[in-house]
Amino acid sequence: MPCYRCGARQTDPVRGASPWQRGVRKETQVLICPDCQRLHDLDLDSCSTCGSAALICRLGEVECRSCGAVRMARSDALTASSVAPPPGLSAEVEAALNRVLGRA
Ligand SMILES: [Zn+2]
Ligand SMILES: [Zn+2]
Repeated sequence: MPCYRCGARQTDPVRGASPWQRGVRKETQVLICPDCQRLHDLDLDSCSTCGSAALICRLGEVECRSCGAVRMARSDALTASSVAPPPGLSAEVEAALNRVLGRA
């Protein structure tokens, strides 16, 4: 993933932690290269609890790495993935069972 601001490509750090900063901007995980980190208009989302910009976005949630606060991402693209069974199915199944068993 390139730097969201200047498009620079991340190079693998020789050792130790990457100097690239991770953040969340408009509900999207972004990377900021070391050069752009010196700028003060990064326009990153910040934690509503502690104000830190050290956020990670995953699975529709935004988690603060400073205080641990978790909130739902606002993105509408992330709709609920849980699929409820269609209503009335159990009644249909029950009716079919009753027919098979001659209880109708
Ligand atoms: Zn950059
Ligand atoms: Zn926080």
